[in-house]
Amino acid sequence: MPEIIFRTRGITKVYGTGDVKVYALAGVDLELYAGEMAVLLGPSGSGKSTLLNILGGLDHASSGRVWFRDTELTDMPDRALTRFRRDHVGFVFQFYNLVPSLTARENVQLVTDVAPNPMPPEEALEQVGLTDRMDHFPSQMSGGEQQRVAIARAIAKRPEILLCDEPTGALDSTTGGQVLEVLKDINERFGTTTVIITHNADIRRMAHRVIQFQDGRISSVSTNDERLDPAKIVW
Ligand code: ADP
Repeated sequence: MPEIIFRTRGITKVYGTGDVKVYALAGVDLELYAGEMAVLLGPSGSGKSTLLNILGGLDHASSGRVWFRDTELTDMPDRALTRFRRDHVGFVFQFYNLVPSLTARENVQLVTDVAPNPMPPEEALEQVGLTDRMDHFPSQMSGGEQQRVAIARAIAKRPEILLCDEPTGALDSTTGGQVLEVLKDINERFGTTTVIITHNADIRRMAHRVIQFQDGRISSVSTNDERLDPAKIVW
């Protein structure tokens, strides 16, 4: 059996009180496997970001349980959750959050200077195809290039998990497809377990599994390849 990296049981996330409760998540049971690339699809408001934030230790569930390997994250104090994020998780968001006054290399260095076992910033930038842009400032790069710097920054600490919330959301579909190719390359090269929220159509042929959300629940899970059926999987 493949190794399970994340397991959730009965996760709910409720906003508001009294009569105006919103169930962002209404009971999610999910396993994510080591090395897989999974995409979360579904309409806006169906709970995808909420789940990603709970997996990444950015938020707590209202009820239910979450494990990272054998470690339960459910009621972990914030300081321990911060350590979990720092040691294991890379994040990529829709907006690149680069420091405008620093070059691509220096933006990545912000992470590599404090990580325990980082790759050199140059190597991280090479992984995303930006060897010839290392000394450019964000304002001198296209949106797709800036997002690739953000991906280099996320992978430079060699995280086991990469969580990407609409990494293509601000890009045209061709550029978005190129960014997804970079994520796919990293998934294959490093075996980084990768979860992506995107509406870009290219993802369907790249992801190992497509996890569909509706109204705070998983409505279906499909695999692109019969060999990747969770019951038979060997990653
Ligand atoms: P998706 O990522 O699929 O677009 P979200 O996880 O962002 O969905 O949101 C799920 C639901 O939870 C939506 O109805 C959203 O309005 C609600 N929601 C998310 N964050 C908050 C919040 N901080 N306060 C209140 N409601 C929220």
